Amino acid sequence: MSQETIKQLRTWLAEQNIDALLVTQPQNRSYLSGWLNDDTEGSGSLLIGQQQQILLTNPLYAEVAEHEAVGWQVLVPPAREYAAAIVSLAKEHGWSKIGFESRALSYAEYEKISSAAEGAFTLQPFEQTVAETLRQVKQPHELDLLRKAIAITDETFTHLCQWIQPGMTEKEVAWEIARKMVELGADGPSFSSIVASGPNGSMPHAHPGDRRIQLGELVTIDMGARYKGYCADMTRTICLGEPAEPRMREVYDTVLRAMKTCEQELRAGMTSREGDALTRDVLAEAGLAEYYIHSTGHGVGLQVHEGPSLSGRAPEDATLPVNSVVTVEPGVYIPGWSGTRVEDCVLIKEGGVEVLTQSPTTLVLPR
Ligand code: ZN
Ligand code: ZN
Repeated sequence: MSQETIKQLRTWLAEQNIDALLVTQPQNRSYLSGWLNDDTEGSGSLLIGQQQQILLTNPLYAEVAEHEAVGWQVLVPPAREYAAAIVSLAKEHGWSKIGFESRALSYAEYEKISSAAEGAFTLQPFEQTVAETLRQVKQPHELDLLRKAIAITDETFTHLCQWIQPGMTEKEVAWEIARKMVELGADGPSFSSIVASGPNGSMPHAHPGDRRIQLGELVTIDMGARYKGYCADMTRTICLGEPAEPRMREVYDTVLRAMKTCEQELRAGMTSREGDALTRDVLAEAGLAEYYIHSTGHGVGLQVHEGPSLSGRAPEDATLPVNSVVTVEPGVYIPGWSGTRVEDCVLIKEGGVEVLTQSPTTLVLPR
């Protein structure tokens, strides 16, 4: 990541009145250091002070970290004693207050560091740091990687629409999605694909199972490729042959209209809550509000779920910055019957959005 980013982080350190920040959240670690690695905290951590940018890791990662984390001092503490290394660095640089990410440092590791410190410094928790804020606004090279991840997802879906047949199991379809993505150059899927057929569609995060897909039922497919660390996320609902009940098409058309309405109205500077209402209002007018049980969308980037969100539960003053990339994903889930969701990724711009996802939203695939 650029020195400009590190400069912004150092300004934040000064504002928070801390001497250094310990970064263990894997995607923040990747974002700040350029060392792409989403393994757990044990694989390494960053320590950033006003003059220092240090990457602590272990022998398993030392070579790749030195290669990718350009401009970082890579240290390999003996026997993976990160706590002892942090204490000696704090003493060397005179740090008396070190911030850490309270969501990403395990309690065991926190205890090790604080007891090794023996009062030499205090640890200050932050639920969010400036790293999450900076990650919301995509830089040009990040946008390129996201566009590529989305393009692979679109191409995988095109293939899927030709390939999928009645009688295939949900698991088979999920496996084909993963296989095709890798064939097209992805790192792999950015999350475990959801393939929810028929009544399973009423469960937004259903796991693909052995159920065989039938003609005339709704099938919700939520999938995304990861490319060089960046995550796409897309949902389409399809039906092999004509829908068995007219209501299926009615509900689907309403959900699709909710997505399109949101994409037409959404723009930078709107609050997260206003963005959320754009889909919710359409579904409420159609009498489907009680079946819309999640938020409208979330940011995507190094994580498949990150900031900013389109949510009625977001802080009132949370707004959508220019060059953030979010999903728009209304859905309707009717227990015991079926469900449907559509989801695009969009780039937030000054006067509107650019819809990045290009896959068609045709419900029926003739069979
Ligand atoms: Zn999704
Ligand atoms: Zn999503």
